[in-house]
Amino acid sequence: IKESGKAQYDEKGNPITFIGVSFDITETKQLQQQKDDFIGIASHELKTPVTSIKAYAQVLERILLKKGDIKEAELMKKMDSQLNRLTNLIGDLLDVTKVNLGKLQYNHTHFDFNEMVRFAIEELQRTTEIHHILADLQEVGLVYADKERVSQVVTNLMTNAIKYSPDSEQIVVHSSIENNSVVVCVEDFGIGIAENNLNKVFEQFYRVSGSMQHTFPGLGLGLYISSEIIKREGGKIWVSSTEGKGSKFCFSIPIQRTN
Ligand code: ADP
Repeated sequence: IKESGKAQYDEKGNPITFIGVSFDITETKQLQQQKDDFIGIASHELKTPVTSIKAYAQVLERILLKKGDIKEAELMKKMDSQLNRLTNLIGDLLDVTKVNLGKLQYNHTHFDFNEMVRFAIEELQRTTEIHHILADLQEVGLVYADKERVSQVVTNLMTNAIKYSPDSEQIVVHSSIENNSVVVCVEDFGIGIAENNLNKVFEQFYRVSGSMQHTFPGLGLGLYISSEIIKREGGKIWVSSTEGKGSKFCFSIPIQRTN
């Protein structure tokens, strides 16, 4: 039940009258739940065939390469990279339902932070043709967190940095320690974000609108999921940006060292 209205109080602060409206929102909540369940099931069902197609594409690419059919193999590689995009979109849909249902699971371990960042950079660099991803990593050491999920955030910020800087060739990933937290920033020199949109980019389904934006595909989920992951790690995520010059997305997570 959702209520809105105004109460009147006597001089001792006791309520005398209340005028207002009450809405029964049980049905709305049920519909929301059904929608979340549906997106969860649909994306799970989509994931299985896409994973198989991806495996077939990779096998075919190898066969074509062996036969010396370079052009055909190149097409297979392109198919593989489009399938990566599809897998990421499906992954985001699955994650967002898990976040909304409070079912995003965490697996905390101690791990070498910069090693995880370097690995994420290497993975992305392999499929990135124009951009160079530079690493400016200070000694961070071990961090206790969910390695997979934090790596997902780093990859998401780098993917966005690449996507939203079509006319520049460089992005920079920084890591450092500040006030007992590890701080990671991903900097790009791309289209930037207007000041009045800065605080909205972490909202679910939010995409900056404008004629330029239509050329960039996406669902507006990546930053929302990233911010939920960082929140759950007890950290913070923020952005500074200048329209037309570039953006710097940063997050911090507290360090709990083993020794
Ligand atoms: P998506 O990229 O799928 O739209 P995100 O949640 O990752 O979703 O980002 C939300 C919005 O924030 C994007 O639509 C884009 O307008 C803006 N944005 C995110 N990263 C950047 C960036 N590095 N530079 C400029 N705009 C960005």
